Amino acid sequence: MTGLLNVCTVALTLSIAATQAAAWSDHRFPSYRTFERMQEVAQAASIKAEPLATFLKAEEASIEKLLARQAAWSEANLDFYPALPAELVFRADASRSDDARKKAFLMALRMAPNAPFALYFQPDARKPRPNKKPLPHSAVNTLPVAASVAFSYFPLDAGEAIDVLSVLATATEEPDNGLDIKLWEDSPSDWGKAMGLGSLPFGNPSLPYSSQAPFHMGFYHESPLIYKAAEFVRHTFPLMRHHQLATLSTLAFRTGHPYWGWRFAGMSLHYLQDLTQPFHASLSPGSSAVKMIGINVLAMAGLPKWKEDMVILLSNRHLVLEYFQAGWLLRNAIQQRDTSVEISLRSMERDASYPAWGENYVRDVVSAQAAAQGASAVKSLLQAMPENYVNNPQFDYGPQADKIALNDEVDRGASAESRQRIESEISNLLGNFGAHSRNAIRGILKASVKP
Ligand SMILES: [Zn+2]
Repeated sequence: MTGLLNVCTVALTLSIAATQAAAWSDHRFPSYRTFERMQEVAQAASIKAEPLATFLKAEEASIEKLLARQAAWSEANLDFYPALPAELVFRADASRSDDARKKAFLMALRMAPNAPFALYFQPDARKPRPNKKPLPHSAVNTLPVAASVAFSYFPLDAGEAIDVLSVLATATEEPDNGLDIKLWEDSPSDWGKAMGLGSLPFGNPSLPYSSQAPFHMGFYHESPLIYKAAEFVRHTFPLMRHHQLATLSTLAFRTGHPYWGWRFAGMSLHYLQDLTQPFHASLSPGSSAVKMIGINVLAMAGLPKWKEDMVILLSNRHLVLEYFQAGWLLRNAIQQRDTSVEISLRSMERDASYPAWGENYVRDVVSAQAAAQGASAVKSLLQAMPENYVNNPQFDYGPQADKIALNDEVDRGASAESRQRIESEISNLLGNFGAHSRNAIRGILKASVKP
């Protein structure tokens, strides 16, 4: 069965290496729509921006206890959890510098210790641009990407008032800004070896996006055959990240730091939101384990073509879904118009139809649902998208992605019925994104009530 391991490795390697758009692109857009009519967020009183150093210094004794409980939770609840190295355990120490405390905190969470945690916000693209000079990209984001026009980070002063919706929506994007890069033993970083997480389970260790992927994807609903053959498929951490940040949020709310309550809450949502994307919740949407194994058997018998084709098609479909979604939401925001996707994000109709919020909700409800929707998503892509982009293994979409005006092409090429099919597929997926995000916030707020 090592051959199967191979097919998974290769599929993931290429699919992720090519993926510059990290799951739903720019979580801020859908998050503003998700929460703009949720009373607990939209009607909440303004809060004051607080530097991370102030929160950490004031609460380090309770943080020490919480981080120990988090490690015990991960140990008990995750299929794969390498223990935290003893030297990374967070211990309160009032005498150290703010920088040393921040570094100790991030290392104990096994997050990139150079993550800036600046005070900033990203405005709703539907609102007028703030009358402030934006921060440079590098003040917020450590990923080596050029600042694009869609990314604008505006500074907040310590103590400056800001509305809860902006803090929450901005924070849902933050984990894609470099928090989870180069954390592995084979990562080109000063801290990877110390983390104790082992080697990158799939992908290319030298690419930052590859190194963050196992924190933003989780394959919890594959056939037992797959886990048996390719154990590394379990080496992912979105559930750990969600739990770490959601419980930090609760701690911050309970101890009177609402800014960090909302910011950590938004950061925790990112991981849940990524798992509503079928290509982040299953290894190969639309293909059965039997097919993957069959293709690999053929490759081992000297017929690698089907395997190579599958790898490219998987990567292309993943990217096309995300680029189309991102382009569509951006266009709607610029034109200030509501389409089915904005209505679906905002609608609270399905929130109560899901099981009660609980510790396993992200795995058992959110990612199970996305994994089950993979086949339908692939069908809609095949129907609506230009054939070349989603069904031609000779064409590699990734390197061309920035040159392709995908939404315009679909407008020109697809029938109204096909365009509607992909729009309703994405509206449905983002309807789940909205409902699960609100349910998660209700869970955090309930847990944050002081006993
Ligand atoms: Zn992500």
